[in-house]
Amino acid sequence: SLAMRQDILDLLENLPEEIKKLIKAGQRVADSLGYSVFIIGGFVRDLLLLNPTQDLDFVVEGNGHAFAQALYQELNRGQLTLHDSFGTARIEFPNGTHLDVASTRWEYYEFPGALPQVEESRLRDDLFRRDFTINAMALAINSDRYGELVDYYGGLRDLKQGEIRFLHHLSFIEDPTRILRAVRFAERYRFRLSKETQEGVATALKAGVLHKLSTERFTQEFLLILREKQYARMGQSLIELGVMEEWFGERLPWNFTRIPENENLTSEEKWLISVSLFNQQQINSALSLKLSREMKREALKFKEIQAALLAESSLNLSIMDQHLSGVSRNIRIALRYDPALEQSMNNYEQAVEQLKLEINGFALRKLGISEGPEIGRILKEIRWAWLEQKIHTPAEEKQLMLQLTEQRRK
Ligand code: ATP
Repeated sequence: SLAMRQDILDLLENLPEEIKKLIKAGQRVADSLGYSVFIIGGFVRDLLLLNPTQDLDFVVEGNGHAFAQALYQELNRGQLTLHDSFGTARIEFPNGTHLDVASTRWEYYEFPGALPQVEESRLRDDLFRRDFTINAMALAINSDRYGELVDYYGGLRDLKQGEIRFLHHLSFIEDPTRILRAVRFAERYRFRLSKETQEGVATALKAGVLHKLSTERFTQEFLLILREKQYARMGQSLIELGVMEEWFGERLPWNFTRIPENENLTSEEKWLISVSLFNQQQINSALSLKLSREMKREALKFKEIQAALLAESSLNLSIMDQHLSGVSRNIRIALRYDPALEQSMNNYEQAVEQLKLEINGFALRKLGISEGPEIGRILKEIRWAWLEQKIHTPAEEKQLMLQLTEQRRK
């Protein structure tokens, strides 16, 4: 409706200058090439949710490469990559954002003999191949249609009523990653799955669709979930749906519930926390995912340190320091989420934070300790003396240092 279009024009008007410039440049290029061009997918969804995002997806009724090249010249910045198939392209900007271009004419690239299709039905088909109605809306940017919402499948209605709805009944069979995506969008926006979509998930899972999914693709979606603020709720939801048990072939003690939303945790930290209650065999099962070498290495290191700490009969601060000094921040943060270690870890972090040795290697060398491991050992002893409260003042620290260097020189 007209009122709707005015609302959207207002939303577009209120976008950050940077993004508006990109859209306006897209419009000039679209008009001059005579192509209909749309912004599509997540950007449109988030714009309508009053929560605009940075990354633009353009879909072009025309030659995608030609559009991308002309846009790149118009913008005169960033880096252009043309992908050889399907007429897709990307422009990456120095600030880390990017802009993607796709063509509704990709069928031509794949099937040279395909019947010519009218433009409007190509856009409709392109949108129909998407995952959910809320992601299947397009926004016209040509000057004669600027701000017109193309919404064949009820995306706006579903945004308003807070529902994740698939586009057809074979959606999850066709692409099982959409099960994880459904959970991700639902929990991110606090939406629910429409009744049919929920049934679609259950049916697909019962049919064993996850077994058709490659480990790479499952991992990719899992990593996207780790990046989300509401990651814990998403993980919980995957457990409730039976996705995790089905994928890993066993019921693992995922530690999802303990993570508060407002805690600003990195993906790596969330990953370690989520496996913090696993035993060695369970960790190996989790490590079947196609994770980076770093994430695997940290998980094993985390388990090793956790086991070592739990094996200590008492966890005083200097014993903890022996296990924890030099250990990555990710691992130290994750250890706090093991209920058996929470208290000790908090005490330790607090003590370490207050710890400020006045003495350094330089001072020790001046006292005649030669360069080498000895210096490190003395510094550690002083550190532990502070942690065990055997010393309390810089003067006492100096005293201890003299005593230790004296012993060494003998
Ligand atoms: P996010 O905010 O997480 O980036 P997004 O919607 O931009 O969300 P992308 O993964 O970047 O998500 O996907 C861009 C668009 O491509 C989606 O909006 C959706 O229309 C489509 N899409 C992505 N993955 C699939 C899929 N597995 N099946 C169908 N369509 C998909």
